[in-house]
Amino acid sequence: MADPCVLVLNAGSSSIKFAVLTANGEEPELLATGQVDGLGATPAFKARTLDGRAEPVRQTFAAGEGPGDHDAALRLVLNWLAGALGHEIVAVGHRVVHGGTRFTEPTVLNDAVIAALGELVPLAPLHQPHNIAGIRAAIAAFPGVPQVACFDTAFHRGHTFEADAFALPRRYYDEGVRRYGFHGLSYEYIAQRLGAVDPSAAAGKTVVAHLGNGASLCAIDNGRSVASTMGFTALDGVPMGTRCGAIDPGVLLYLLDERKMDAKAIETLLYRESGLLGLSGISSDMRELEASDAPEAAQAIACFTYAIRGAIARLAAAMQGLDCLVFTAGIGENSPRIRADVMAGLGFLGLTADPVANERKGPLISAAGSRVRAYVIATNEEAMIARHALAASGIAARVAAE
Ligand code: ADP
Repeated sequence: MADPCVLVLNAGSSSIKFAVLTANGEEPELLATGQVDGLGATPAFKARTLDGRAEPVRQTFAAGEGPGDHDAALRLVLNWLAGALGHEIVAVGHRVVHGGTRFTEPTVLNDAVIAALGELVPLAPLHQPHNIAGIRAAIAAFPGVPQVACFDTAFHRGHTFEADAFALPRRYYDEGVRRYGFHGLSYEYIAQRLGAVDPSAAAGKTVVAHLGNGASLCAIDNGRSVASTMGFTALDGVPMGTRCGAIDPGVLLYLLDERKMDAKAIETLLYRESGLLGLSGISSDMRELEASDAPEAAQAIACFTYAIRGAIARLAAAMQGLDCLVFTAGIGENSPRIRADVMAGLGFLGLTADPVANERKGPLISAAGSRVRAYVIATNEEAMIARHALAASGIAARVAAE
């Protein structure tokens, strides 16, 4: 019989990203990864196996050809997987951006759950409908195989009222206008990894800085999220590649009233034209900004690290202390300069960096006498989803028993 494995899907508006991992509940191992993007425009498919057992694929289609929707994209992926891996998919884990207040843990999908996810579309109109389309496509492709929704919001659901409430009339909180926090699967993974890397830090007060195209920070006290920089949407918090981060809501009133911008134009401005791209006028990509001599690139980076330092101080205050700082995701894992800039301003919290270890990527990057320890730890949201999918569907226990 073919080896059992788990398929992890992350369906976006015009893409499906996938990963196949071994059905090992403790430490699922990545076997293959790839994506179909450009759905509805000029689709492209790329995929590779980690051990090189199959030729990597890079296929582009002309406009109007190739897969046109999530179903067709998934068929393309599955055809390739059947030839490249020949593994048996025993569970499917779906990354779902929003679980609202109801979904506080990974949940096995059925019609009622899918309907409940549909009710959350108004909270995440840019992502949730596509997540649901991916779920429907996978259920059609794998009838009878357990499918599990894993939520970016679930890890944050234990926050206090004061951490999640906006100071609006209460009825808005009651109808769901509150801070949800995102990147929860990444934070959950890091919290578990920290338990292996530094158990005493994991039992204490940690700020995790997930710095990628999307960026947020999370306060984790003894393994539990107590506050996060992202709010009602993934726009809040620190500036990101193209997203603005926290902004005075008065600016939005100005754009509406004085500049006569409509909601769509403001959405485009805040989600796609702001952040590092908007500040620099050069790029949303940190590598390009670091390579640039333009003063605007340096200013964009300075705004980014300034906001991150401020967020760390605020999150430390939320926990009434700080024992550990963890950097993760594309920028956090790969940019010694950003890490150094952030840490340089945090002496007052008891953090002293080790510049040599920081250049080497640690994992420990704080100096020997530093009261706060700092680490670089690679995140792995796919492994977290795979673990959840196997555990929630009961397959982890079955595989362990065999
Ligand atoms: P996403 O949020 O899309 O998953 P990633 O976590 O992959 O994003 O992070 C992408 C970001 O990481 C980009 O800004 C990219 O420039 C940055 N990055 C990747 N490698 C490096 C590097 N060596 N130095 C600086 N930035 C890097």
